[in-house]
Amino acid sequence: MGTGGRPHSHTLPVVETFHSLQGEGIHAGRSAFFIRLGGCGVGCSWCDTKQSWPAHVHPQCPVEELAQQAEQAVQAGAAFVVITGGEPLEHNLDPLCEALAGAGVPLHLETSGVGALSGAFRWITLSPKPHKAPAPAVLAACHELKVVVHAASDLGFAEAMAAAAQARAPGTPAPELLLQPGWDCAAGQELVVDFVRAHPKWRLSLQSHKWLGVR
Ligand code: SF4
Repeated sequence: MGTGGRPHSHTLPVVETFHSLQGEGIHAGRSAFFIRLGGCGVGCSWCDTKQSWPAHVHPQCPVEELAQQAEQAVQAGAAFVVITGGEPLEHNLDPLCEALAGAGVPLHLETSGVGALSGAFRWITLSPKPHKAPAPAVLAACHELKVVVHAASDLGFAEAMAAAAQARAPGTPAPELLLQPGWDCAAGQELVVDFVRAHPKWRLSLQSHKWLGVR
């Protein structure tokens, strides 16, 4: 900090922010403010946010500015804030979560689980990828396990992830279990419908925002 200056703000690469409805998972259909951070090295072939992969092409935004945007969204009706990406855990999320605490709403994280867990979240959605194993700490902390299904092998992976996620400290609730067909993937849709019908601990997740044509 220079003489008479303000402390340097913590910044993060931001792809976009927007206020919409959560499209996926247990909280689908609820008003939410989204912060999409840049940076992801996981490399899923079906990724629908490939523009988020290189962090350096996205502007660095001070966490205080993101918190201001979140507070305005909450005044406009957002019930919670979602930190998504990209892979948000490529960054230390502690400063962002501290800044967002003033918004007074729950903070949700959407992650593939690759990277060290940081920040403080009311809800963690873990969407693990078969080609990059999630960190055990994220598996143990997630509230929702959401596996994308393109092929039958993804169902076996989902069961293995569920077993791993349920091995957690006594008294810690088990995560909700969701299967989400890959977008525009007829085989995935059929597999998920058949599997959920036969395995009631799982439930279907749809990308409802895409069906509706909203963000
Ligand atoms: S982890 Fe998410 S953002 Fe990264 S490549 Fe996979 S789907 Fe895309």
